[in-house]
Amino acid sequence: ALDYRLGDTIVAPATAMGEAGVGILRLSGPRALAIARALCRRQRPWEPRRAYLQRFYDDRGGALDQGIVLYFPAPNSFTGEDVVELQGHGSPLVLQLLQQSARRLGARDARPGEFSERAFLNGRMDLAQAEGLADLIHAQSESQARAALASLEGRFSEKINELREAILQVLALCEAGLDFSEEDLGSAHRDALEQALKTSQRRLESLLQQARQGARLARGARVALIGRPNVGKSSLLNALAGRESAIVTAIAGTTRDLVREELQIGGLTVELVDTAGLQDSADPVEREGIRRSRATVASSQWVLLVADAAAGWKSDDARILAELDSQRLTIVWNKGDLVAKAPVLPEPRPQLVVSARTGAGLDALRMELQRSLGAVEAAPFSARNRHVHALEECGNALTEAATALSMGNEELLAECLRAAGASLATVTGAMDVEEILGAIFSQFCIGK
Ligand code: GDP
Ligand code: ZN
Repeated sequence: ALDYRLGDTIVAPATAMGEAGVGILRLSGPRALAIARALCRRQRPWEPRRAYLQRFYDDRGGALDQGIVLYFPAPNSFTGEDVVELQGHGSPLVLQLLQQSARRLGARDARPGEFSERAFLNGRMDLAQAEGLADLIHAQSESQARAALASLEGRFSEKINELREAILQVLALCEAGLDFSEEDLGSAHRDALEQALKTSQRRLESLLQQARQGARLARGARVALIGRPNVGKSSLLNALAGRESAIVTAIAGTTRDLVREELQIGGLTVELVDTAGLQDSADPVEREGIRRSRATVASSQWVLLVADAAAGWKSDDARILAELDSQRLTIVWNKGDLVAKAPVLPEPRPQLVVSARTGAGLDALRMELQRSLGAVEAAPFSARNRHVHALEECGNALTEAATALSMGNEELLAECLRAAGASLATVTGAMDVEEILGAIFSQFCIGK
């Protein structure tokens, strides 16, 4: 069904639009070589993977540019098809004219992500790897890029495949047992099944954990600012973001809506959220703000509990601290410009003194956040929500499998194991993914 798409030859600039040092036009498909040779008016063949300095012409023979040509014959190319790259001098106009000529010579413009889609369809990489590639291209931070590279290189896929293999072995064990009658089914057989199933469940749990980390990394870390009214939460948000976004006033309880800022801290994307605080209030608008603050804290990877250095530690501060009940928390004494020495905390806690007004201590705060978040945010590979869902489905199927086993229903057990394996297969695209392909590859840029 896909042959009509694979049969044609696609063309697109592989470099970003705009003037640049180099501009690359990429061709892929059965006519890529013929079209490229026409664009270069080349008689003799090119040797694969060797750089040739060529003149580039339009389809009527007018010279346009000169540059390097690289030819990657199928199947050892990015897409698995014949690929030719024309690397010119980076003029957007010349690239456009070359692409237009390629079109007239029989190529068609590639859709976003179509080169990668072909790479997947031709078995050059699996779906999780292709998604890793997209994550790498879109990476906003160092840790995101590192995790994405791991996925691109197949680190995530390997784990999926190993687990799927293990589940299929449990299935084989189970199916071997199905040939016997109920009386023949020894307890040894059942013990073996139970052991194997438990092992798979444990491995699934740890993989799910890692996939959740990987998916969260893509969204960045969330940090909540919380504290009594007027301690300077909004001022701190503005100071860290380097601009005025939260409303700062001398009237307590001004920050009713959540205000967010995205920051880059030491290679991490951090969403800093200013909250209304946790104080009780009769005002319904403020109460809604408080409800949202609680939700924000619950969904945050770290909390900055802001206190007023000039006022010292108040019972309301203690109440908020107790209510948060979080180990992922740093106490930030703001308004340090008003005091000569650091205030005293009743109990030892990570804390530092800053001033949103003068900027003193903000670098130390950034370092502290980087250190704390680095520990919670490192991920072994990048992942997507769709991967997390697939792993969750696999986990549910394994739980049902365990129930089926305890009931002695091996028919049902086999069915659940098959379902568990099928869920995993959607992660790498080993089966049944046609309907999600469009959604995945359209996120790529054109030329990739
Ligand atoms: P929030 O209610 O916790 O968001 O507090 P705001 O950011 O609205 O600040 C409350 C008041 O404290 C404002 O008048 C600010 O100008 C003042 N303020 C905030 N940060 C500092 C600081 O570092 N030093 C001093 N002296 N005043 C500050
Ligand atoms: Zn505020």
